[in-house]
Amino acid sequence: MIRFEGVTKTYPGTSRPALNSVDLEVLKGEFVFLVGASGSGKSSFLRLVLKEDRPTKGRIFVLGQELAAISSGKVPYFRRSLGVVFQDFRLLPNKTVFDNVAFTLQVIGKSKGFIQEAVPDVLKMVGLGGKQNRYPHELSGGEQQRVAIARAVVNKPAILLADEPTGNLDPATSAGIMTLLATINANGTTVLMATHDAGIVDSMKRRVIELVGGQIVRDERQGAYTTTVPVQKPSRPEPSFDDLAAAVPTPAAEPAATPAPAPVPAPASAPVPVTVEEVAPTTDPIEVLVPAATAAPLAEKPVVERTPTSTGAVIPEPGSGPPPGFQWPTAPQPRRDGR
Ligand code: ADP
Ligand code: MG
Repeated sequence: MIRFEGVTKTYPGTSRPALNSVDLEVLKGEFVFLVGASGSGKSSFLRLVLKEDRPTKGRIFVLGQELAAISSGKVPYFRRSLGVVFQDFRLLPNKTVFDNVAFTLQVIGKSKGFIQEAVPDVLKMVGLGGKQNRYPHELSGGEQQRVAIARAVVNKPAILLADEPTGNLDPATSAGIMTLLATINANGTTVLMATHDAGIVDSMKRRVIELVGGQIVRDERQGAYTTTVPVQKPSRPEPSFDDLAAAVPTPAAEPAATPAPAPVPAPASAPVPVTVEEVAPTTDPIEVLVPAATAAPLAEKPVVERTPTSTGAVIPEPGSGPPPGFQWPTAPQPRRDGR
């Protein structure tokens, strides 16, 4: 689904890379948390997956394509397979909930009939069935994020990228958003979510990839936000027998003195069954409208039909045809590197 091979990203005018020799593979159907302090490279990673930026070194493959081989004209089509959600929602303030979701589909040329069916369906799925005529300012933060998620998944993307999607939400509302993301994942979408939120990561027990200063220091299946498992980088020499012996004071050593096991790699087959019950219950009243996922493994679930042109919708390209006079609210963000 997503593969990084020796990827380094150094922004112009900076000496320290934002990402440094990152090797990583995310498999179809996985739910992966990207954790790390502010500035550790999480957003840079997601931007590279979206081909919003180019790596300085290394190769990136997404959905079987090497990103460097996708011409700039083809990038908007590539991005239709990716849904994106941000911390600040990025809704169009002068459009209703319905139109915020429909807009993405209009931009990519979907028919009126398709839009009239798909938009109410996805709004129901995210728990906003009754709110399609509201404007963003008439919604709570959690509801606005649900609209953003609906917009990101309405065209059934293979991959959903979420950059701190709960960063502006209280814990109960965040739990509702996580239940929704777990449901979307259970229905077959690979989810990659950058977050600072230790509580969420700990409660979900999914794969956790931790970045420190642009380097992967941990990749753990069913991990927590913090861990006692030390980093095991291939470049780091294994402790010698003498090192280990020195760390063990007596033959009846404490378990803590033995080397910890290496992080468990991701499975080569379908991921673990997903249950939304893993997520803390929410007090968000609209949560009851979200259909519960089953515990069946993904491989046994019906695969959502996709055609090359009906892959997922994302934030539409500014150059790809908003109506005359249309103003983008906050996206696209101005680039800090001036390109
Ligand atoms: P995170 O999302 O984990 O907070 P970022 O990927 O935003 O981290 O940033 C990683 C590092 O790259 C930081 O040091 C940040 O200042 C730097 N950085 C990010 N974007 C740019 C840019 N466009 N130009 C220059 N430096 C950048
Ligand atoms: Mg970030």
